[in-house]
Amino acid sequence: MNALPEIRENVALDNLNTLRVPARARWFCEITGQDELLAVADWARTRRLCTLLLGGGSNLVFTGDFDGLVIAMAMRGRRWESVSGDQATLVLKAGENWHESVLYAASSGFRGIENLALIPGTVGAAPIQNIGAYGVELCDTLESVTVYDARTGDIRVLKAPGCCFGYRDSIFKHESNRYIVLELRLRLSRSRPLSLGYGELADYFSGRQEKDEPTPLEVAKAVMAIRRRKLPDPVQLPNAGSFFKNPVLGLSQWQHLKEQWPEMPGYPVGDRMKVPAAWLIDQSGWRGYRNERVGVHNRQALVLINHSGGTGRDILELAERIRKDVEQRYGITLEREPGIIESDAR
Ligand SMILES: Cc1cc2nc3c(=O)[nH]c(=O)nc-3n(C[C@H](O)[C@H](O)[C@H](O)COP(=O)(O)OP(=O)(O)OC[C@H]3O[C@@H](n4cnc5c(N)ncnc54)[C@H](O)[C@@H]3O)c2cc1C
Repeated sequence: MNALPEIRENVALDNLNTLRVPARARWFCEITGQDELLAVADWARTRRLCTLLLGGGSNLVFTGDFDGLVIAMAMRGRRWESVSGDQATLVLKAGENWHESVLYAASSGFRGIENLALIPGTVGAAPIQNIGAYGVELCDTLESVTVYDARTGDIRVLKAPGCCFGYRDSIFKHESNRYIVLELRLRLSRSRPLSLGYGELADYFSGRQEKDEPTPLEVAKAVMAIRRRKLPDPVQLPNAGSFFKNPVLGLSQWQHLKEQWPEMPGYPVGDRMKVPAAWLIDQSGWRGYRNERVGVHNRQALVLINHSGGTGRDILELAERIRKDVEQRYGITLEREPGIIESDAR
């Protein structure tokens, strides 16, 4: 049986990326199963087409049309592979919505991913940049990732240590056209300590007695309330979340900067210091900036907004101006967080 799904030509991607920048895919298909994936991979290979995996489009910037095959990930399904004592393994297919999966796990009483509530996008994209928020990263609970390896044509299971996870980083970012994520295996527990130390989350629960520990669902709801207060909803203000990573500095650079800018915040990460990129951008005068098309959010300086008809290039030009300003002022080079999808895909 031919598992090839419908492949459409010249498809608009404007509503499939949360920045809502204009772009078209020369070819586009949606896959709901492994057979379809293998068939489209073969179809693209014989035509020598570049491919792009698309989840929720919340962490990428299209700079123009994509002259290849866009594969929208729609493989759905979640199951408890094992539940033993207070430990459980939850398996999630790549096309599942991440936030709904967090609520599903948290409602079952299992802990581990509740701090990652309300991060937009799909399960399959979560390991690409090792999503993180409020003191927790995906890699804290991830056991393995099942992938299609385009180099060998095999389906493989990569154990977490082999994925080289770091701060917003993984092997998948560095070998971007090689792996297609099919499913994640998460190790959750009813008894692991909750992670409530992060500033605003700690404040949220500060009045509670120690014996009155919140449930994972209560933690997820607290995270949702905090995020809704400070982050713009992409449906109302199109954006791609944090546009820059928080720079991590060596101690000598940090000490030198701190002498010059005593009010600069910093958080230890091993023997280095992480500086909030939002603070650097804010202090450089960019928070709330806007021109007729694009701008910087007025409450969260890390978020760039497409106000009205902006293109991916408009967004990147603004990001570049910010990057240069911060570099000139502090000598720190900001690194972009979203992936840039260049229009020349061949
Ligand atoms: C308002 C807002 C808030 C955000 N907050 C956070 C946050 O707190 N923490 C955080 O870490 N991120 C955050 N993000 C970024 C983003 O939500 C995450 O990176 C998310 O995992 C992206 O998922 P997606 O499905 O939208 O991926 P997409 O944007 O569709 O894709 C992102 C990258 O992953 C690749 N990809 C997607 N699916 C697969 C797959 N199955 N196999 C292989 N490659 C794949 C794509 O090709 C692309 O390179 C935020 C974004 C927004 C808009």
